[in-house]
Amino acid sequence: MSQILLAKPVIKAEINKLKLKCQEYLDNGITPFLKVLLVGDHPASLIYTRNKKKFCEKIGAQCEILTLDSRTSEEDFMEVVEGLNADKSVHGFLIQLPLPKQLSHIDTTNLVNAYKDVDGFHSDNISKLYRGSTRENLLAPCTPKGIMTLLDFYNIEVEGKSAVVIGRSLIVGKPMALMLTNRNATVTLAHSKTKNLESLCQNADIIITACGSPKMFTQNYFKNDQSQVVIDVGISRQEDGSLSGDCDFENIKDSVKAITPVPGGVGPMTIFTVAQNLLHALDNYPED
Ligand code: NAD
Repeated sequence: MSQILLAKPVIKAEINKLKLKCQEYLDNGITPFLKVLLVGDHPASLIYTRNKKKFCEKIGAQCEILTLDSRTSEEDFMEVVEGLNADKSVHGFLIQLPLPKQLSHIDTTNLVNAYKDVDGFHSDNISKLYRGSTRENLLAPCTPKGIMTLLDFYNIEVEGKSAVVIGRSLIVGKPMALMLTNRNATVTLAHSKTKNLESLCQNADIIITACGSPKMFTQNYFKNDQSQVVIDVGISRQEDGSLSGDCDFENIKDSVKAITPVPGGVGPMTIFTVAQNLLHALDNYPED
C-alpha cells in the first residue's frame, strides 16, 4: 500500500515542542514576535501571510502583518525594512514575495538581518547550509527544512539514497539539494535544461518536484513498483480554481511507495517551519 505523506500528523506531533518553547519565553517576559512585511494585495500572498500569522498565534507567539500600499516607493520600502531590522521587539522578520513591479528589481536576499531571517535567505544563513551544517536550529529556507522534518517524521531514510530535485530556485531547489547532500544522499539537481529527466527520476529513490508545472510528472517518470518516495512542492492554481501539484497525483499515488498530496503536504510544513524558525531566531538573538 502506498503511503500518503500528510503534513497534519507531523504538525500534530511537533507543535507541542514549539508551544513549550514559546511558553518558556513567555514565562521569562519575552513574547516571540514575527513581523511580516507585505506590499500590496497579491492574492496568494494574502493567504500565505494570514496562514503564517495564524500558525504563530497557535503556538503562543505574536505575529503582525505590516501591509504597505502597492505603490510604495523604494525609498519608503527601505526605510520600513531598516526600521524593522532595528526594532528590538521584533525577533523574526520576513518580506513576503513577490514585491510589486516598482520594487521587483530589489535583491531582498540580504535585506533582513541574518539573525531575524526566519525565511533563511540571508547569505550568512545559506553559507552555514553550504558548509554542511546540519544543526537543527539553523535558520534555513522553510520549504526544504519543512520537507526534511516531514521525511524524518515518516522515517524515510535519506542517507545513501539517490535523490533527484527538480527546480533550482534559491528558496526551494538549491537549498533542498544542499540539505539532502548534508544528510548523505546522492543528489541530482535538475532544471528546465536537464536532458533525460524521465530516466533520472525513474532511477532515483527520492524525487522532489519543485518546478510549478501542474501534473507534469505522470507515470512515465516513475518505476511504478511502489519503491519511490515523491515529494511534490509545486502549487499551481487550475482553471477551475482548484490547486494542483507538479505530480499527476491521482494516477501515480498507487504506484509509488509514498507521496505528498497538494494541498496538505509540503505547504503546511512551510508554514510550520516559519514558526519554528522564529523560535530558533530567538534562541540565537544577540544580547545588547
Ligand atoms: P521557480 O518558479 O523560481 O523556478 C522553477 C524551477 O523549475 C526553475 O529552476 C526551472 O529550471 C525548473 N523548471 C521549470 N520547468 C521545468 C521543466 N519542465 N522541467 C524541469 N525543470 C523545470 O521555483 P520555486 O519558486 O521553487 O517554485 C516552484 C513551485 O513550488 C511553484 O509551483 C511554487 O508555487 C511552489 N512552491 C511551493 C511552496 C510550498 O510551500 N509548498 C513553497 C515555495 C514554492
